[in-house]
Amino acid sequence: MKQLFQLVFMLALLLVRAIIPAHAQNPQPIPKMDLHVHQAPGLTIEQAVLLSKEKGVQLGIVEHPGICPYCPIENDSLLTAYISKLRQYPVYAGLQPVTPGWRQYFSQEALDQLDYVIMDALEIPQADGSIWRIWQDDTQVSDIDDFMEMYVTYNIQVIDNEGINVLANAAFLPKCIANDYRKAWTKERMQKVIDAAVKHHVAFEINSFYRVPKKEFIQLAKAAGAKFSFGTDSRNNFAGTMDYALEMVKECHLEAKDIFVPKDNKNTLSSE
Ligand SMILES: [Zn+2]
Repeated sequence: MKQLFQLVFMLALLLVRAIIPAHAQNPQPIPKMDLHVHQAPGLTIEQAVLLSKEKGVQLGIVEHPGICPYCPIENDSLLTAYISKLRQYPVYAGLQPVTPGWRQYFSQEALDQLDYVIMDALEIPQADGSIWRIWQDDTQVSDIDDFMEMYVTYNIQVIDNEGINVLANAAFLPKCIANDYRKAWTKERMQKVIDAAVKHHVAFEINSFYRVPKKEFIQLAKAAGAKFSFGTDSRNNFAGTMDYALEMVKECHLEAKDIFVPKDNKNTLSSE
């Protein structure tokens, strides 16, 4: 009786294997990455590498390029020095521009040495020449619809014009309207940003610090064929945290093929 049971069990197993395609039986693991980490006094590159090893999460370091009050990489030689330094460590080397037109300060040859570029839409140039930094906690929004029309337009400009791989802090909202997420991010607005990203092969960063984008956005983006990356926008030991990202991976059924991976870099952890 026991032998008969074993035989039936083996036959059932063979049948299941024959029916289910190989990739579904052994899905590729989701790459554990945080591509939005800043070097800071509270997080040196050596500390970041240690954290990366402890957490088993591949880190990507970004710095602000161009001309701005907090952009230390102003030209090709500073960019090359930055990349050469990072190449000594098992991290990806990236940039996070904050101003439109940042590419004018660099040659294509120097930019080609990078592994990836991320940019968010949280520093919005205004008609009077000022910059509206909507990530600041005291940001005031008087009319959600007016704000969202302007914000969606800027998101699309960043995706269309800045030659980026990842839209960082995707679908973020200022603190004062964060509780009105559904009212602000209507399906129509989400779809406009998603269509632009799919057209330009720009991935959406799922940010575990701001906990954005929300599930509805990710599901809509996945259905449209968009890709995703993981980030924390961190300058401390929060780097490498993936709690919200992994929650969304599970809830939105994201697979390895949905995740953006930077250019091959010989110094990454896995090749050590
Ligand atoms: Zn950042």
